[in-house]
Amino acid sequence: MSAPSRSALLVLAAAVLTACATAAPVSSTPPAVTTPAALASPVPTTAPAARAKVVVLDPGHNGGNSRNLAAVNKPVPDGRGGTKPCNTTGTQTDAGYTEHAFTWDLAERVRDKLTAKGVTVVMTRDSDTGVGPCVDVRGAAGEKANADAVISLHADGSAPTNTGFHVAYSQPPLNPAQAGPALVLSADLRDALRTGGFPVSDYIGRDGLSPRRDLAGLNHSTRPTALVECANMRNAGEAALMTSADGRERYATAIAAGIETFLSR
Ligand SMILES: [Zn+2]
Repeated sequence: MSAPSRSALLVLAAAVLTACATAAPVSSTPPAVTTPAALASPVPTTAPAARAKVVVLDPGHNGGNSRNLAAVNKPVPDGRGGTKPCNTTGTQTDAGYTEHAFTWDLAERVRDKLTAKGVTVVMTRDSDTGVGPCVDVRGAAGEKANADAVISLHADGSAPTNTGFHVAYSQPPLNPAQAGPALVLSADLRDALRTGGFPVSDYIGRDGLSPRRDLAGLNHSTRPTALVECANMRNAGEAALMTSADGRERYATAIAAGIETFLSR
């Protein structure tokens, strides 16, 4: 979070003034006394460019997962001493719009918004047709990228009457990033989604926030990390919103704003 400072080696080019003896001009007017510019004003300095902020976006699941269940079901460390499946297929709307397609489209939109602001964005997958990566690999992606923040993007599959988004974070914390910064990031995302007009969940968590100990991607992370469950894909109204490009653009705008708030702290 802290602004990375780069050691600035200020090389001060000392102006060595060599006194050149010149013949006095034959004139009645005294020679103008000029002061070398280098001595008259401070040496101009250029502030070192700040390191671009790095954000890892983790679009949940993947398009090839459902056809590769053996790989997807392989147990991997869950970050708390147990195991979890490598990945899952994710959920979908009643009409068949999949969570992996939603999170991929959403991640691309968020990526483009952040990139336009000078943020370096790393994605945990490079297409919506592959398999995995496993949740432990996704969880380690922030460390690998030296990320300032990691945001995992999902949508839930709950009972049809349930609505609203929630933001999950690792609890109890397993490292300093999980103890404080992850909560700040989660709250920033929650606030931005609220500002964007999205209601908090009426069926899980509290006030849009959900502490979790069972999400391996969160457990494995050593960087500030939050997992956004944007809405319930089994709810007709929210499914319609997520299925529309306009709806996804609204989610992306809110999530990018929340990330920017966190990065500016
Ligand atoms: Zn999911």
